[in-house]
Amino acid sequence: MSKALRLSEKWFRRGLWLVAFVFASFLIGLGGTLVGDLPKVEQPLVLDDFLDLAQVQPLRDQAHAAREHSTQAQAALEQAQLQQSKAASATRAERETFDNWLATRSVTQRAEHDPEVLARTRQLDALRAQQQRAQQAVQAQQQALLDARQSAQAAQARLAQLEQDGHQRLAAEQRRVELRVFLYRLALTLPLLVLAGWLFAKKRQSTWWPFVWGFIYFALFAFFVELVPYLPSYGGYVRYVVGILITALVGRWAIVALNRYLERQRQAEALPDEQRRQELGYDVALARLGKGVCPGCERTVDLKNEAIDFCPHCGIGLFDRCGACGTRKGAFARFCHACGTPAGATPVPPAQARTAATPVAPAGPAATA
Ligand SMILES: [Zn+2]
Ligand SMILES: [Zn+2]
Repeated sequence: MSKALRLSEKWFRRGLWLVAFVFASFLIGLGGTLVGDLPKVEQPLVLDDFLDLAQVQPLRDQAHAAREHSTQAQAALEQAQLQQSKAASATRAERETFDNWLATRSVTQRAEHDPEVLARTRQLDALRAQQQRAQQAVQAQQQALLDARQSAQAAQARLAQLEQDGHQRLAAEQRRVELRVFLYRLALTLPLLVLAGWLFAKKRQSTWWPFVWGFIYFALFAFFVELVPYLPSYGGYVRYVVGILITALVGRWAIVALNRYLERQRQAEALPDEQRRQELGYDVALARLGKGVCPGCERTVDLKNEAIDFCPHCGIGLFDRCGACGTRKGAFARFCHACGTPAGATPVPPAQARTAATPVAPAGPAATA
């Protein structure tokens, strides 16, 4: 990007970067939708799929019936208890009247020969017998309730045992499904990442670079961001291992590129001045001069100092003199800024150049350039 010096070219490049990002964002949206839709290929799991229904269903029926019985027994018990308390209070009331009547009677005459005493005693006995029956009815209902409850508990306990086994099988199957779903996504995103790596290595400077970069951003995003919510517990390992691998590859590439650059630079600095000048692109040289560094070796040079015509680090000519008018001009300029003569169009022999030049004219390779 820094190589572009023309204003329109700069803006075109910015526009193309925008194209790259927009392209990436649409791809990311598409990828996210695709990755999000993947679990639909799996059936949702339910507990009953993992239970032996031939065993479980009778237990469930038993528990259900026992609960019904227990509700009925509870209602019956309440009725019986009410009957019992009625009978008890009737007996108590009769007993009290009888005792009072007896007390008044005993003062006047002997009770054991009085038929009325016998009749009232029999009536009291009948009431007591009725109370006894009510008591027995209550106990019978209590028994029924207890039986129903115990039956329900037994069925429930067996059911819980079976369901616990079912839950274990369900959890195991869920882990398998989770792995399968994760692998689908990995199978979708990992090849994208590999393709992005290949594009980065081979095509990042091609004519179609905005699409290449857009695709690279998309692949990185899809793998490192869109995959995250679907990772199983150990999915982090996959993510970090791939991340480490990519960092190592990019790091290795950068180190190799740096060494290659340094080697190329070392070889270039050993070449003759003229050849180096030709190998440097015009725009590259201008961009480097604009940043205050030597176009040849990229080390800093004080370009404002008029006494400096050559790079003190690599010796490349930075300024020379116009062959026509002798003005000091940038050695990389294509035309003399004073008279407009094309640089190198009329190569001036050193002797002639020296006469045309001011006394400070540099001798040596620059004069022939
Ligand atoms: Zn230099
Ligand atoms: Zn000139």
